[in-house]
Amino acid sequence: MHANRALILTMLSMPVALAAQSPVTIRAGRMVDGRGGVTTNATIVVEQGTIRRVDRAAASPVTYDLSKYTVLPGLIDGHAHLSWYFNRAGRYHTPNDGDTPVQSMLAMTGNAFATLTSGVTTIQSPGSPEDKGLRDFIAIGPTPGPRILTSLEPITSTRLTPDSLREIVRQRKAQGADFIKIFASKSIRDGGAPTLTQEQLDAICGEAKAQGLRTLVHAHSAESMKAATLAGCTQIEHGVFATDEVLRLMAERGTYFDPQCGLVFRNYLENRAKYEGIGNYTEAGFAAMEKAIPLALAAFRRARATPGLKIVWGTDAVAGAHGRNVEDLICRVQDGGQPPMDAIISATSLGAQALGMGTQIGTIASGYQADLIAIDGDPTTDITALRRVVFVMKGGRVYRWDGNLAR
Ligand SMILES: [Zn+2]
Repeated sequence: MHANRALILTMLSMPVALAAQSPVTIRAGRMVDGRGGVTTNATIVVEQGTIRRVDRAAASPVTYDLSKYTVLPGLIDGHAHLSWYFNRAGRYHTPNDGDTPVQSMLAMTGNAFATLTSGVTTIQSPGSPEDKGLRDFIAIGPTPGPRILTSLEPITSTRLTPDSLREIVRQRKAQGADFIKIFASKSIRDGGAPTLTQEQLDAICGEAKAQGLRTLVHAHSAESMKAATLAGCTQIEHGVFATDEVLRLMAERGTYFDPQCGLVFRNYLENRAKYEGIGNYTEAGFAAMEKAIPLALAAFRRARATPGLKIVWGTDAVAGAHGRNVEDLICRVQDGGQPPMDAIISATSLGAQALGMGTQIGTIASGYQADLIAIDGDPTTDITALRRVVFVMKGGRVYRWDGNLAR
């Protein structure tokens, strides 16, 4: 009993003690600010979880000497599912596999830790009711994980009237959702055709806007993407069958686009034995995902060629992909032809703007949350440097520092 309590107190007090040291100074050999700016030999001053200022003069001594590394804002993954995990039988967890809610939550905290220590300090989860407990515990401090924004339960029903859909939006807000997630097309494993009418989408996105909530829409077909854009929804996910026409419409309307480059499909294929035979993870489903890899890449390239389109970064990380999120940014640069700095901006300042947090996170500047990561290498010339995270700070707390390890 006493031993347990001592252990818990130690776990709780360590990060708290770090946060209480004030101010904390960090020397960055190279600093990528999240908005396209690069500075060498910067000193970042952090007080009470916030960046107070960035000095050019080298103050000494500093709390963290990261002069051998590149410091950038913590990454923002606009689409990750921390509730997805492989159960103890090595299979994709489903509600009827016998795992208790406590076991599931422990698996989720493991996913949260893997995500945070890989350099992702904020995620958006679209969504699961279990997210609420994890989001709130991470926010108050004891549980290490990225800052979480969640839609809670997504809206999937295709039969509800506009009035009942509006009612669900108000319910989600009352339940504590940060935004609304809508399925407006079938899964890629089922062809991606539209599932909601224009009237239904108008009702959901219109009501959400009236309630001050953003809307994320799962849509693969161009028709479903167009309907979501016309309904004034905030952001469209996936869009494997996007056309130039619908992408231009999205750019005109200021609709954010979150396409995936390849991690989500490759992860399913790599972990095929753990998914196959459950739900629509059938032989046909896997064949559809294999076909989706070149289509998704083509959609990403088409999006990049659309002037003014706001492309954010969301991995759709599911079981097997947590902590490997940056692979999808690497794919965007290496396979999608995106300049590395554009990829970094999509995962930092632009990602923050899409979350409505553009003045709080995603940028290294005075007044922003101290969400800082350091990596070994220069991601503006070698995007794979994002795999080599050595330091993670979120809200002024350090969760990873490999400084004493030989690399
Ligand atoms: Zn998803």
